[in-house]
Order: sequence, then C-alpha cells, then structure tokens
Amino acid sequence: MPSGRTHDRITLWSLPWLVLFAFVFTRSGELTLIASAGFLFSGLMFGPDLDIHSIQFKRWGWLRWIWIPYQKSLSHRSRLSHGLLIGTILRILYLFIFIGTISIFVVAIAQLAWGFPWNWQEFWQNCWQKLPQYSGEAIALFVGLELGAMSHAFADILGSTYKKFKRNGFQALLPKKSAKTKRRASRKKR
Ligand SMILES: [Zn+2]
Repeated sequence: MPSGRTHDRITLWSLPWLVLFAFVFTRSGELTLIASAGFLFSGLMFGPDLDIHSIQFKRWGWLRWIWIPYQKSLSHRSRLSHGLLIGTILRILYLFIFIGTISIFVVAIAQLAWGFPWNWQEFWQNCWQKLPQYSGEAIALFVGLELGAMSHAFADILGSTYKKFKRNGFQALLPKKSAKTKRRASRKKR
C-alpha cells in the first residue's frame, strides 16, 4: 500500500489533468474550480484512509475526533471506505449527520441566549427548493470528491499488486486457484 506522501503526490500530479479534462468537459471555469477543489479535498483529507490513523485523518486537526466513530466501525480498506461510489457517499452522509447534529445543539443554545426565531423545517424546505438551481455545482463537487477517492483506491490496488508480484512473480497476477482445482491437482500427483 503506498504511503500517505505517495498518495499526496499522486493527487497533486493528477490535479492538472483533472483541471484540463473538467474544463474541456464542462466549458465552465466555475465548475472546473469546484471539481478541482473537491478532488484536492478528497485526495488530501476526505479520502478512504480516514478509516485509519492516517495523514488524511491528522489533517483534520482538532476536528479529527469526528472521524473516530467512522474508524471504529469500519475495518481498514473495507469496501465501505475504499469502494467505488459507496466510499464517498458514505463519508458525505457521515459528515452531514455530524454537522447536522452539532448544528441542532448550536442553534438551540444560540436561541436560548439570544431568542431569535428559527424553524428547522422551513430551513430544510428552503434548501430542498434551492437544490435544483445548484445541481451542476453539486454534481461537479461529487465527481471531484469521487475521483480523488478513486485515485487513492486505485493506487492502493496497484501498490498491493506490485508487492505480491515482487514476492511471487507472475503467479501473483493469475487468478487464485479454487480449492477444487487444488484438490484435483494433488490427486493427479498421487
Ligand atoms: Zn487506502
């Protein structure tokens, strides 16, 4: 598995390519910027390795504790953190739930202190209504986040395949023999 620094380098070296492709594809400076920001954020601190005490995890600084329950409930390199789409979707949901819960407390305390009117239902309805206006931005952000995570997962797979190759040669690249074929081979030898 590549080190955190190698993952950083992969993210930074892929960034110009992502900017180029995003701009060619969207023809929009704003969407390109959003997708690139998502890619950088995902590659440097919102990636699959938040499931261990990694450099990505440390970059959250004093906020890093929010990822501890995430680490405790997932095993490292599980499909739920490193898998295609599911990894990013789960992290976004996780972060939203965390921010949502904290916001409820903060608003409640602020209301007690300053007594201003606040209605969560209205707030969510407003957000929901405005969402279609920002669908392009939301998709660009999600694609950026997902590509950042996938560059990581892909590097992990390449790294472990290379290690196996160094250990076992070309045999490591062949599909694993099933128990049945192994049994058949040993019977033939006898
Ligand atoms: Zn990883």
